[in-house]
Amino acid sequence: MLIERLTEALGADAVKTSPEDLACYSFDAYSQGVLPSAVVLPTSAAQVSAVVKIARDLGEPLIARGSGTGLCGGATPLRAGIVLSFARMNQLLELDIENRRARVAPGLVNLQLSERIASTGYFYAPDPASQRASTIGGNIGTNAGGPHCLAYGTTVNHVLALEMIDDRGECFTTAVDDLGYDLTALLVGSEGTLGIVTSAWVRLLRLPPATGVWLAAFPSIESASEAVSAIVGAGIVPTALEMMDATIVRAVESAYAAGYPEDAAAVLLVESSGEPEEVASADAAIARIARAHGATKWQAATSAEQRDALWRGRKGAAGAVGRIAPNYYTQDVCVPRTRLPEMLAAVDDAARRHEIVVGNVFHAGDGNLHPLLLYDKRDARQVAAVIETGNIVLARAVELGGTISGEHGVGIEKRNGMSLVYRTEDLAAMACVRDVFDPQALLNPEKIFPSGISCREMRT
Ligand SMILES: Cc1cc2nc3c(=O)[nH]c(=O)nc-3n(C[C@H](O)[C@H](O)[C@H](O)COP(=O)(O)OP(=O)(O)OC[C@H]3O[C@@H](n4cnc5c(N)ncnc54)[C@H](O)[C@@H]3O)c2cc1C
Repeated sequence: MLIERLTEALGADAVKTSPEDLACYSFDAYSQGVLPSAVVLPTSAAQVSAVVKIARDLGEPLIARGSGTGLCGGATPLRAGIVLSFARMNQLLELDIENRRARVAPGLVNLQLSERIASTGYFYAPDPASQRASTIGGNIGTNAGGPHCLAYGTTVNHVLALEMIDDRGECFTTAVDDLGYDLTALLVGSEGTLGIVTSAWVRLLRLPPATGVWLAAFPSIESASEAVSAIVGAGIVPTALEMMDATIVRAVESAYAAGYPEDAAAVLLVESSGEPEEVASADAAIARIARAHGATKWQAATSAEQRDALWRGRKGAAGAVGRIAPNYYTQDVCVPRTRLPEMLAAVDDAARRHEIVVGNVFHAGDGNLHPLLLYDKRDARQVAAVIETGNIVLARAVELGGTISGEHGVGIEKRNGMSLVYRTEDLAAMACVRDVFDPQALLNPEKIFPSGISCREMRT
């Protein structure tokens, strides 16, 4: 019945049901779930609406999916259901340079937007390290960040308006300049649980006239962390301020020969943009602070190729660690910048105690850490050790005044961790919001909330 109705609405070519196809959509970059009942590849909002109506009639869960690069299991089916893949809704729909905005379909790959409009002198700022693969719809689903969000803000700061399909299959729109509640901000980061994005107007920024990228090498992770606090404390806001520890630097260098010093205990990658004089003054000011905190090297990228190579190394770090271990588990916690040294020490201590190799590559300027816990999933001891280490990292981040996710979202990975940050009453209040949008819990069910949390607790 389900397959017949989907095929009737979308055509046979848009409905995938073979075991091989279903297997490809049963996992994302975090976890493996169960096989969905069907995968559909709509080409329009009208087709998405038709799919939602069919799912609602038959009580099938709906899981929206971009590229499946999510690191918290957000796009993973948990009890069959229909996976809505946006691979065929990947167009740049309208370009309105006069008003510095573009309308995009959800399946447009993040980097392709900036590449396609480069000749206009504009770009799209949110740049998750996955931007070569992840989609703008998925970025909206998770409120993705990225290295340049230190200066430009995360996805929510760049979405101007949304076209969505609700749980009844009806289309609605929101815009940041609507009066009343800011629904756009609520929907960004809702992980496909409040509605399905079918198009979005996003903000475009002017490409800066000058950009400088520098690399600083440090003798210890502590001295690099202290330099980060000092740079931001001095009122300087680089466009990006990224840190890599020795494990990552060596892996990246061996994979990409990006030009990183392999003998450094920590490397900072710093970028500043603006007028040429502003970039020159940032260079001088940041170099002074880095040296005052023990930097053994301060090196500027002198060509666009060098700049790209340094960034390729940073953005390819997760792939490079495949040279060290067959699997990695990325944690994503945020702490106040001044607590970075304590947080890094806690990560190191937990990894040592559990005999796990860890590599740190992260958005240091935001205090957003990404310890990559390296392991071999064929070894049950290592799997258990990685899970335990991850739990310790989450708990310590909260103790240090931070939070359990900086940008990757909650999905299934951090459902239980939500209780470390919120009281039951707070979670129940959030569940009430969900109930307003999707009372039957058809949209990406069982994500975000720990089991047992429901709106009912709020009403009693
Ligand atoms: C190597 C690597 C590096 C990464 N670096 C970063 C980083 O720097 N910053 C960062 O924030 N993340 C990063 N990520 C995580 C991931 O890339 C982001 O979460 C990204 O936003 C997911 O996009 P996607 O298209 O793959 O979405 P998916 O993984 O397919 O889906 C993500 C979530 O969005 C929902 N969703 C997808 N499409 C829609 C839609 N049309 N409507 C409603 N909901 C939808 C899904 O249901 C799911 O909950 C990284 C991941 C990897 C593997």
